[in-house]
Amino acid sequence: MTKRVCLVHYHEIGLKGKNRSTFENQLVKNLRRALRGEGVADIRRVSGHILVTFASGQATPDHARIIAQVPGVARVSLAYLCSLNEEEYCNAAVKALGEAGEFESFKVHARRSSTTYELHTLDIHRLVGDVLCDAFPTKRVQMHNPDIIVYVLVVQGSVYVYASSMVGVGGLPVGTAGKVVTLLSSGFDSPVATWMVGRRGANCVPVHFSGRPMTSDTSEWLCQDIVNALQPAGLIGRLYVVPFGERQREISLAVPQSLRIITYRRVMLSVAERLAQIEGAKALVTGESLGQVASQTLENIAAVNEVVSMPVLRPLIGSDKMEIMRRAQQIGTHDISAQAAEDCCTLFMPRRPETHARLDAVHQAWDSFDHERMVEELLEAIEYVDYDHCPSYKPPKQMKAWHAELAPASV
Ligand code: ATP
Ligand code: MG
Repeated sequence: MTKRVCLVHYHEIGLKGKNRSTFENQLVKNLRRALRGEGVADIRRVSGHILVTFASGQATPDHARIIAQVPGVARVSLAYLCSLNEEEYCNAAVKALGEAGEFESFKVHARRSSTTYELHTLDIHRLVGDVLCDAFPTKRVQMHNPDIIVYVLVVQGSVYVYASSMVGVGGLPVGTAGKVVTLLSSGFDSPVATWMVGRRGANCVPVHFSGRPMTSDTSEWLCQDIVNALQPAGLIGRLYVVPFGERQREISLAVPQSLRIITYRRVMLSVAERLAQIEGAKALVTGESLGQVASQTLENIAAVNEVVSMPVLRPLIGSDKMEIMRRAQQIGTHDISAQAAEDCCTLFMPRRPETHARLDAVHQAWDSFDHERMVEELLEAIEYVDYDHCPSYKPPKQMKAWHAELAPASV
């Protein structure tokens, strides 16, 4: 039986000039991790594609679906891997076209690459085209805009044949764009924001602020579920959790009710920035979307943002809630976020939060408690869970020595 393999296509990587091999190597590593336990025989670069072969010789649509979720993958085709035997690859073309779904028109597109094979592309077009016309007598060949293109790729001593492909998530391989610390709540937005920067190649280190011990630890479990749901994309190597309940109580006693949320957020962002320095991350990420809730006005974003000097990325700033929910569905976090959980944000909620904070009032509130000490104490109390989803994640040595004893059992 002819072997089936996955042929992975990427486009953006092709644009990256001399970085190309770094990107391809990272994508190979990430694919290897994503396909762990799937009986992979080999993953290697083949003429502008990545070829994935399986010990069974039979790649399946499930394998292609796993690959399609890995950032950097533009498309993936379940191809027939044939020898240079004409009959063998023509038969494969008939099967590939037969499996490609409804169509009226088709054409053959052949490409040769580093091969000494005597047939040239035009010969292959004619040869395979004639066989397909015989096999599908009611269908027509159409050069411009056909419904289906049957690809015949001759590379060295092999021929790859495919007629359809699955669309991948696109973007860039995780590990090629540096590291970010993402502020992860169990809501809808921040998991999507995390996924979006991860899809652009960033290694994501989420930090969650929990209301513990003043609330249950449900939000922490939901965040772990979210990290697990994002596993197919391979963007996260570690989740940090900061028990924030006690400190929120202190803040709620020290600052005017209307400024509580802004003050919590300033503390959260300050802790996240310190964590980012320890992690060697170059930016912070939040799931804010302009005007979505009272706290996300321009004034309030500015009042929170001023405590950090690192860039704060807000990939959802211009997105509507419906778009965010759709994306959450697609990446598998929607149903987890739909489970309401108390986290630090529901704790000590003021009845009337400030929507257009005045900076002098914010500064006065900020100076009414020892925020520097609080940030350091929260950092000291941080906990983490490690995941082996992300091959490019390197934990900071400093953190290991400080907090290894705090790590809860890995899930
Ligand atoms: P989300 O759906 O991500 O919770 P939201 O629409 O509920 O966002 P807010 O609650 O105002 O908006 O939060 C804005 C952003 O602040 C979040 O997207 C997230 O990045 C960060 N954030 C909020 N709460 C927490 C938390 N408990 N831990 C970590 N980050 C948080
Ligand atoms: Mg929220």
